[in-house]
Amino acid sequence: MNSSSSNSGSSSSNSTNIGSKLLARYPFVEDAGNYLKLLDYRLEEFDDPTMSNVIDRATARVVAAMRGVVYDPYNVASVDEEVVSFILACIMVKASKVKALYRRFALSEARRAEVFLVDDFRMNTSGDEMGYILNNIFKGLFAIDVIYSHDHSTFMIKVEDYLKYSTNFHDEYWRLSNRILHKGYVHLNTKDMVRLIRDEIYALIIRRLERINVEYDNLPEALKKRVNALKSMMLEIDGLSSNNNVYVERRGYPPCIVNILKALEQGNNPSHTARVLLATYMLGIGKSVEEVCELFKNAPDYNERVTRYQVEHLAGLRGNRVRYSCPSCSKVESQGLCFKSDECNGIINPLQFGRRHGSSAGRNRMDMDVDEGVGSEVR
Ligand code: SF4
Repeated sequence: MNSSSSNSGSSSSNSTNIGSKLLARYPFVEDAGNYLKLLDYRLEEFDDPTMSNVIDRATARVVAAMRGVVYDPYNVASVDEEVVSFILACIMVKASKVKALYRRFALSEARRAEVFLVDDFRMNTSGDEMGYILNNIFKGLFAIDVIYSHDHSTFMIKVEDYLKYSTNFHDEYWRLSNRILHKGYVHLNTKDMVRLIRDEIYALIIRRLERINVEYDNLPEALKKRVNALKSMMLEIDGLSSNNNVYVERRGYPPCIVNILKALEQGNNPSHTARVLLATYMLGIGKSVEEVCELFKNAPDYNERVTRYQVEHLAGLRGNRVRYSCPSCSKVESQGLCFKSDECNGIINPLQFGRRHGSSAGRNRMDMDVDEGVGSEVR
């Protein structure tokens, strides 16, 4: 590292200091690349034992992602260490070539940013810092013009931006009709404002990962060792094959369910309502809680404990002991999850699909309820 080019320039302006401070929390912003160039790192330098701290930190970020947790957001290191460990983590993830790890890493880092954003918006009322975040993240990265009212701690964004960024949220909560609207703007509280762009941060990190041009063979030995260890750990954690696909026999399942299974197989992140549909459907055809939990293992945000709790809740084994029914086709359609085919004709609940067509998928439980009640989040 060329230490003369660190961020310690004596003429640092206030805005530079704010930028550096926030860069440690949001290393995915465009400035991060420039910052690294300033620091003048070369990959081979990471074989130097003095670099082990930052490699440890990068590895810890990836391990947290694998385990479906956010890497300790209350332990922010120096700007250099945060940014470099983020970039190194990206390099290791990319060199692993495990696609599911790309998604888990991106999700974990997006969630970390979410924690920081909520924290910054709630705790820090400095106009400069707020301005930096709104300009560099919301506007700079996602072209969202946000107006912030300090008096009411409320964010306002244009209706068209709201519709664009909430398009994948299928819960009633996010419907435009359930929002406060004023003169073409949607009013949002801090948590909702941040949640709205978390998926965009996730997608941005995925794009950053895809653009990284690195091959395992060209990595320094210190990084190769970590990549090998991370790949082994990934196999251990998931018990999956090296391409990390969970294959589920899909024959006999209705199109709405096949669609969710496909998304999970590809390591994508189905919506909460989609997860509830899948879980209640599978429980409805007689799958065990274990078998249902297994289906979610490939989700980027998989958390074994939370998944089990929620599936048990849907199965009526927890809380109010009410077993949740698979939602009706009309409900599924209203949630945007119906992919009706000719074989769906004449059925009113996905559970009837297998029954009508004689597959083993739908035959196990003929006594299903057919009501509209669903209501939990399955991760
Ligand atoms: S009609 Fe029913 S079973 Fe068929 S895809 Fe739609 S929701 Fe699923």
